[in-house]
Amino acid sequence: MILAIDQGTTGTTCFVVDGEGELIGRGYREFAQHFPQPGWVEHDAAEIWAVTREVALEACDDAGVDTADLRAIGITNQRETICVWDPATGEPLHRAIVWQDRRTAGICDRLREQGHEPLIRERTGLVLDPYFSGTKIAWLLEHAPELRERALRGTAVFGTIDSWLLFQLTGEHVTDPSNASRTMLYRLDTGTWDEELCELLGVPPRALPEIRPSIGGFGTVRPGVLGDARCPVAGVAGDQQAALYGQACLDRGEGKNTYGTGSFVLVNTGDQVPAQREGLLRTVAWRIGDRTMFAYEASVFATGAAVQWLRDGLRIIDSAGETEPMAASLSSNDGVYLVPAFAGLGSPHWDPYARGTVTGLTRGSTREHLARATLESIAYQTLDAVRAMEAAAHEPLRVLKADGGATANRWLMQFQADMLGVPVVVPAIHETTALGAAYMAGVGVGAWNQRQVTRTWRQAAAYEPAMSRDHAETLHAGWRDAVSRSLRQVL
Ligand code: ADP
Repeated sequence: MILAIDQGTTGTTCFVVDGEGELIGRGYREFAQHFPQPGWVEHDAAEIWAVTREVALEACDDAGVDTADLRAIGITNQRETICVWDPATGEPLHRAIVWQDRRTAGICDRLREQGHEPLIRERTGLVLDPYFSGTKIAWLLEHAPELRERALRGTAVFGTIDSWLLFQLTGEHVTDPSNASRTMLYRLDTGTWDEELCELLGVPPRALPEIRPSIGGFGTVRPGVLGDARCPVAGVAGDQQAALYGQACLDRGEGKNTYGTGSFVLVNTGDQVPAQREGLLRTVAWRIGDRTMFAYEASVFATGAAVQWLRDGLRIIDSAGETEPMAASLSSNDGVYLVPAFAGLGSPHWDPYARGTVTGLTRGSTREHLARATLESIAYQTLDAVRAMEAAAHEPLRVLKADGGATANRWLMQFQADMLGVPVVVPAIHETTALGAAYMAGVGVGAWNQRQVTRTWRQAAAYEPAMSRDHAETLHAGWRDAVSRSLRQVL
């Protein structure tokens, strides 16, 4: 029995997975999103831990499994979001700054003006964007002077969400390379924290976690923290890297797209640091022993988040699933496009100042048009991400492996296949991210081997393209026009 913790942006999901790789128990709960200013997004780290713990116990309950019988725990998490806490008490010292948060756009501009961008791109594989943790730590250190002193004295430590959960579970201040490679403080070629970049951002290295291989030992659950559990945490990876693992993309050239709050196309590039490519990130996929696997990544910030906005912001739907019949009720988008650049735009544009835009509204536009435009925007953004990936690989995509919450939307999956012009396949188990974390933990304690992971992958649905290429091109041209209007809107 393995417990997989998937700590996402919207909520935490936990699964109990048995020896056959079947999900036998689950728990899910959302937690509060805080928007203190336009473009800012925060989470309460204490709430994340409380929710995660409840949901973990709920999943064991649901599976009828005693926590004492857990063999291992795997953790996968929303990436880049940064927490700061007191290592003596485990108390958060500030709200977590979430990956979607844009408050550090000015710090990025400053670093760019000072000419540091090429070094950052070369060393970390990332682009200079507020998305990554490094400038968020720098912001905390600049705006809360007591944190700087505490960080220097060792009474304040930083970590991504994996580190935060690991600290609460095992008491160790550790992380894995897939998460570390999202901080802008990690060197891809050496696999260690980069002293020069730490200095540039004013981050005392002692305040950062120790980096351990993604599969292996992250400590043992402390007594009483999770019922009677006393097992090791044996697998840790960022959500997109765990999804890559869960989709069994274990070899060079294999890739996937995950439709969650954002969408992320990752392609495994093998065990050598890949060459820099326009519009794409280079990232660690995972490290097993001393072998590090890498990936190209195209990151799209707001896809499922746009559906959440229809629900919680505009309040024109009650649940995400309603968008499917709404979109299908129209025979065309009637020229209405939505660019959900709520948190700027990621791949391939990388513009932190872009903002959400709706084009083509007429007096006849309805909520159905907005629902359809939202789903279409998910597919167009994914299309642009895939095209950037194809350009990097000099090879066309033959099939898109998809996973994540929004793959439940059949209209979206069909439209995606139509726009791409290649089939979209969805695995039998949609929760690929959690499954990836479970597999990693299972491999970590020697219960499974990598070949079993590949064998367990099963296809549930395949969506074949049915639209003419001409029509797809016309729609895409309308989208590109809308995107051009959303770029660089200075607040
Ligand atoms: P995360 O791990 O980022 O929290 P999930 O993989 O759990 O994301 O997916 C949740 C996202 O998927 C939400 O943003 C939600 O709006 C979207 N979503 C869920 N179901 C549907 C659906 N049927 N149609 C469109 N979007 C959906």
